[in-house]
Amino acid sequence: MNTSTEHLIGSSQSEKIFSTDWRSAHGGTIAVVEKATGDWLFQAGVANARDVAEAAVAARDAQVEWAAVPGPLRADVLRKFSALLEAHADEVATWIVQETGSIQPKARFEIAATAREALEAAALGSRPVGEMLATTGGRPSYAERVPVGVVGLITPWNSPLILAARALFPALVLGNAVVLKPDIQTPVSGGLLIARLFEEAGLPPGVLHVVPGGPEAGEALVAEPHVSMISFTGSTNVGRRIGEVAGRLLKRTALELGGNNALIILDDADLERASSAGAFSSFFHQGQICFSAGRHLVHESVLHHYTELLARRASALQVGDPHRQHVHIGPMINLKQAERARQIVADSVARGAKIEAGGKVNGLYFEPTVLSGVTAQMPVFSEEIFAPVAPITSFSTDEQAIALANDTEYGLAASVFSANEARAVRIAKRLKTGIAHVNDQTVVHEIFGPIGGTGASGNSARSGNVTSLDEYTYWRWLTVAETVPDYPF
Ligand code: NAD
Repeated sequence: MNTSTEHLIGSSQSEKIFSTDWRSAHGGTIAVVEKATGDWLFQAGVANARDVAEAAVAARDAQVEWAAVPGPLRADVLRKFSALLEAHADEVATWIVQETGSIQPKARFEIAATAREALEAAALGSRPVGEMLATTGGRPSYAERVPVGVVGLITPWNSPLILAARALFPALVLGNAVVLKPDIQTPVSGGLLIARLFEEAGLPPGVLHVVPGGPEAGEALVAEPHVSMISFTGSTNVGRRIGEVAGRLLKRTALELGGNNALIILDDADLERASSAGAFSSFFHQGQICFSAGRHLVHESVLHHYTELLARRASALQVGDPHRQHVHIGPMINLKQAERARQIVADSVARGAKIEAGGKVNGLYFEPTVLSGVTAQMPVFSEEIFAPVAPITSFSTDEQAIALANDTEYGLAASVFSANEARAVRIAKRLKTGIAHVNDQTVVHEIFGPIGGTGASGNSARSGNVTSLDEYTYWRWLTVAETVPDYPF
């Protein structure tokens, strides 16, 4: 519920970036457009390499004082952020819907999850910061958690608020400063709103910088000497490049990359429920989620029935402008993505796949599409589609299902549907993914679970409270002798 009538974003933020204060950017400005209509929404500042360098220096300076603030008091800022986000939920939801093409329920989910993540991350501020170690040295010896320093955070456009939050909150509460570079297509919900909420919440100036920009700003952030760590969520290609550059500079990286996630529907699954979960997993947010189901692997004995149910569900979904109509499927982010997905579907149909539902594309509006007869040789099977497309492939044994699910370079998420829990768990444990769900779909996000992938889906970094302490701090060994010990020379 919105309890605030003050707008977070207005003329003071127009053409500006947030770097200690709201200031003009050296990279010029860009029109933020409403994805459903192409209409102008806002003029955002664009950061270039110079802005990134200035932000990094200011962040490095501010981090020292921020790290000296006691953890529980740093956490209070996150608690205020959470309350403010809820108070401004209506404005934030409108930005998410218009700027990213989300439907309202997705925007509301993102806001509620982000408000919750702020509170859960705040709890990290009260956790023990070290251990007293065993020693043969006769003096106190400690292992102490120390903030990494300045974290460079690079995020994508698809769920820009939550994907920034999941790294930003733990980084801040553990005493780091952050330079956040949101995608240039979604600078407001991915960055400027966050900056405004932290300003209101009382985060000291200089601790957070928001520098929307393109690849130039991203590359500058990775190479920036004052930035100790890069947390990146985005495509596998860009992640590989960031890993290479940061590796040469010996920087820590957390790389959360693409996915090609499989749903395995066993012969004893509840097909009504599994097809509903499957439709949600492939079509929610136009299939533009790293966790989206990219492959439905279905036992041959239930293939016909599952395909029919999924196609019926796809055909019932309304596609349109999520700001002005009540729809299930909004626009895709841009024409390039829509065309890429259309081509993947067309190539797969040319190789023998059959369209069971949807298949038409009108500009950014992509009908939820179900394809049957998909084989591992088709691009719709092997590539991350990032569009509302559900490809169906059949199998006859559990071993075949496992082999098909693992037949990908990606390793993010997978699901197994079965009435036999033990059988489903046996299969789930053999899947090469960082995340596996039994009897639930792949688009599940909770701060409590360690989220991340293997293979082309990431470098084994995990976001979530289980791992945040390790991601955003390093260990220091500290010994404190009262007098200098005797040495032979
Ligand atoms: P992208 O890699 O093109 O862009 C992501 C970010 O990287 C943007 O901010 C962009 O400006 C920046 N960038 C681009 N080139 C750069 C460079 N050379 N150096 C530094 N930064 C650079 O990704 P996208 O198309 O915006 O996002 C979709 C991808 O993100 C999909 O592959 C999706 O699966 C993945 N994703 C992964 C997760 C996850 O948790 N694993 C979550 C969401 C999205």
